[in-house]
Amino acid sequence: MGGLPTLKLYNTLTREKSVFTPIDPQNVRMYVCGPTVYDYAHIGNARPAIVFDVLFRLLRHVYGENHVTYARNITDVDDKINARALRDHPGLPLNEAIRLVTEKTETQYLEDAKALGCLDPTVQPRATDNIGQMIDIIEKLVAKSHAYAAEGEVLFDTRSMADYGRLSNRNLDDQQAGARVAVEAHKRNPGDFVLWKLSSDSEPGWDSPWGRGRPGWHIECSAMSERYLGEIFDIHGGGLDLIFPHHENEIAQSRCAHGTDVMANVWMHNGFLQVEGRKMSKSEGNFVTIYELLHTETFGGRKWPGEVLRLAMLMTHYREPIDFSIKRLEEAERLLAKWPTFKQSGGAADASVVNALADDLNTVAAVQALHALAQAANTDPALLSAFAASAALLGVFLKETEVDEAVASAVDALVAMRLEMLKAKNFTEADKIREDLAAKGIQLKDGKDPATGERVTTWEVRR
Ligand code: AMP
Ligand code: ZN
Repeated sequence: MGGLPTLKLYNTLTREKSVFTPIDPQNVRMYVCGPTVYDYAHIGNARPAIVFDVLFRLLRHVYGENHVTYARNITDVDDKINARALRDHPGLPLNEAIRLVTEKTETQYLEDAKALGCLDPTVQPRATDNIGQMIDIIEKLVAKSHAYAAEGEVLFDTRSMADYGRLSNRNLDDQQAGARVAVEAHKRNPGDFVLWKLSSDSEPGWDSPWGRGRPGWHIECSAMSERYLGEIFDIHGGGLDLIFPHHENEIAQSRCAHGTDVMANVWMHNGFLQVEGRKMSKSEGNFVTIYELLHTETFGGRKWPGEVLRLAMLMTHYREPIDFSIKRLEEAERLLAKWPTFKQSGGAADASVVNALADDLNTVAAVQALHALAQAANTDPALLSAFAASAALLGVFLKETEVDEAVASAVDALVAMRLEMLKAKNFTEADKIREDLAAKGIQLKDGKDPATGERVTTWEVRR
């Protein structure tokens, strides 16, 4: 028994990899910025969902299933949502139109995440359910002179915080001197950002001490992380693009409101994903949603199972950029096809996989270790349970799918027919059967009967 591994994580705040020590090992707390629900999530958005799901699984492995709280918010108030609601449901009152947009998008996001093998976070708070908490924080900031009201907005005064800019390594003077955009007249400093803004009658709004309005983007995460994880918690995650301004401003709000030295101890950021070598964008024609990959034939002319998408993502370290391509997906699929399926998991994860993950989520090494384990398990079934438990740590499930008897006997008949064709050297027809079955998720494995030396074919269902 090697005992539990020492977990090391790279911290954007200190710019080093160091040993992770939770504030309270009985309740390890992690917050990850979730989606803004105005449109289907793209494959770039899948990256933080998957990366932090692996971390969630690892933390549960190390500290115990019931000793980790993972909060991921749903941003359901945003001007992009309003615009989408007006576009898609022009006849409806705005609040109803907004609800249609956010409910549909949120449901799809949760389905996408599930298909990608992600566990539900412990809590998934919505911004609109936490407006009161946001107002409380803004009131504290105003009372402590970290915020001021001007021209229908409440703004955070970036000069009021001595070490504003630490996370992103930005210096206010540099920003000020280099500012090309004219300072908006009502701001004390160019970097000051909106905490609250007044809404017109046609915009969504909530009553507040400053009038009917709506929150700025950053304040929601300060409010929800405090509510569910406390003023100081262990890990805060998101994509690289969120370091500035979003996370910098979350830190400013939370620390100044609570008078604390840190908001979260460890800040983790996943690298960016591009598609076929280019930044994903609608104008480049390489913008692809998780939904399209799973359910349509837009990418590479075929659908891709969630497991393949997930493994393709984990074949690169989370801090590196990823080039998402058909080639990469095919590579992940080939790898998965070599791994054994299993009826149920149980047993303990192998140390080789656990230790790789404990080293700043080295999923590349973990996938290699898992592959070695798979090869060993293919010849020694006693290793299957360790393989299954290790695969589960990466969130890759190779569970055998139940097939009903009628389907099974039809497949058996086709497999027998194909064997006859192979004997008759009718390879084209035989290949066609193999391909037709593969398209239905049924995979054939050819081998030899060790006793008779005759060709035998087994089959299994892989989603
Ligand atoms: P958004 O809905 O744009 O706020 O993004 C939700 C999450 O996805 C954030 O953590 C972003 O940093 C992340 N994200 C967005 N685009 C990409 C991308 N191309 N690659 C990796 N992560 C991304
Ligand atoms: Zn956030």
